[in-house]
Amino acid sequence: MQLVWFRQDLRLVDHPALSRACRLARQRGEAVEAVFVISPAQWARHHMAPVRQAFLLARLDVLGAELARLGIRLHCLRVDWFVEIPTALQQLVQARGATALHALTASEHDERGRDADVQRALQIPCNFYAGDCVFAPGTLLTGKGEAYRVFTPFSRAWLKTLAQEGFSLLPIPQAVGAPLPWQPLALPAPSPGLAAMLAPWPVDEGAAEARLQAFVAEDLLAYPQCRDLPAVPGTARLSAYLAAGILSPNQCLAALLAQLGQLPLAQGAPGFAWLNELIWREFYRHLLVLLPRLSRDQPFNLATRQLAWRQDAADFAAWCQGQTGFPIVDAAMRCLKQTGWLHNRLRMVVASFLTKDLLISWRWGEDYFMSQLIDGDLAANNGGWQWAASTGADAAPYFRVFNPTTQGQRFDPDGDFIRRWLPELARVPGAHIHRPHAWLDAHGLAGIYPLPRVDHAQARLAAIALFKG
Ligand SMILES: Cc1cc2nc3c(=O)[nH]c(=O)nc-3n(C[C@H](O)[C@H](O)[C@H](O)COP(=O)(O)OP(=O)(O)OC[C@H]3O[C@@H](n4cnc5c(N)ncnc54)[C@H](O)[C@@H]3O)c2cc1C
Repeated sequence: MQLVWFRQDLRLVDHPALSRACRLARQRGEAVEAVFVISPAQWARHHMAPVRQAFLLARLDVLGAELARLGIRLHCLRVDWFVEIPTALQQLVQARGATALHALTASEHDERGRDADVQRALQIPCNFYAGDCVFAPGTLLTGKGEAYRVFTPFSRAWLKTLAQEGFSLLPIPQAVGAPLPWQPLALPAPSPGLAAMLAPWPVDEGAAEARLQAFVAEDLLAYPQCRDLPAVPGTARLSAYLAAGILSPNQCLAALLAQLGQLPLAQGAPGFAWLNELIWREFYRHLLVLLPRLSRDQPFNLATRQLAWRQDAADFAAWCQGQTGFPIVDAAMRCLKQTGWLHNRLRMVVASFLTKDLLISWRWGEDYFMSQLIDGDLAANNGGWQWAASTGADAAPYFRVFNPTTQGQRFDPDGDFIRRWLPELARVPGAHIHRPHAWLDAHGLAGIYPLPRVDHAQARLAAIALFKG
């Protein structure tokens, strides 16, 4: 029997491990079985958000049914920690008579360690295949044979390789046996709050692909104009699917190609702005493999290791709860808490506010984001936080500090997003929405919304001084 180990790759299409296992099984007249390991304690240590856990398990249930239709039985194992996985898999291998294990490679440090332990422990061949990026992390190298540390040359090399080599998309494998019954997973019913967070992210067959197709058909060309406006649904909202591997980046390329007739390989080409974001995704995964310390709370730029971040629990709590007195920051943080998702522009704004205005470490923000996000992804989250904190690769220069008020004015000009998430400001007119305190005072409403927690101009100077050392 060929055993496929699913992790952050909960799909049938474009799955090199599944395809190879099916091919071998057909050649040898063997069966294929699949396994997923739930590791609650490890997930908690990785700050995995409850909504992301619920999302993964809901998708796993659907995947189990999809696999069963191909004649593949999915086993769900449960252990607390990654270190227990080798023994659990070994027992399954022996009980089911598996002759080889197949899985996709991981980019994260703990996950890579887990895979190495499994490889050492199992007495059958363990085959790992690249599959979560178009080009496997570590394979794009500079002329000197070194890994890229800066985005722009990385993206140039990535585009050149795509132009030369193209990409391939593996189809869903053909059935390897008669359809099997699927006993749905006994998942606890989500609380009403959790159910509301999951609702925008259906996991049924084809849901992710359908959203991708709708985005490229309807919104791709307007993406450069709309992508920074959080009140407008101008981005693809695919991140939870990509992070859980329900969708592969090759599927995104195939959708671009089908829509545009050619891939947008140069800046300015229609569709390029969106492709560029997928390249950022690949860049951050590439960095994680290049620099394992990024998975372990260390900055990309080691010179920033000793920065004396403030350890102010009250300021941090005000940021988490959306009570900083800066409307765009507070609206964003309340949206994150209530929906488990946040628009990219607002991720940048709130990350800048935490690290530059409150001078609180990006590590606190990174962990908090992970504990809330349905699309939590170590590579993108760490990359985004270190970018905002000016400690990362291609970081915002330390003297560039987002002004939260002007960011709000620019990207939520009428305050529509703010009013959606800050009901106490619902009546504040557009002219005052980004600095509502004087208007609230004048209308006898002082006190319904917190005063600004910092003076931004002073905080900016303090941040620059901190970095200058
Ligand atoms: C501080 C911070 C933390 C972040 N944390 C995460 C995270 O945990 N998980 C995550 O998937 N993204 C993260 N991002 C990146 C980005 O905000 C989200 O991917 C994006 O908002 C998802 O929305 P979308 O699917 O509509 O994206 P689109 O704009 O439609 O982009 C398409 C896809 O490209 C990828 N992508 C887009 N922007 C980026 C980026 N800047 N870096 C890496 N990949 C990108 C995502 O997979 C996304 O789904 C973070 C960004 C910042 C600034």
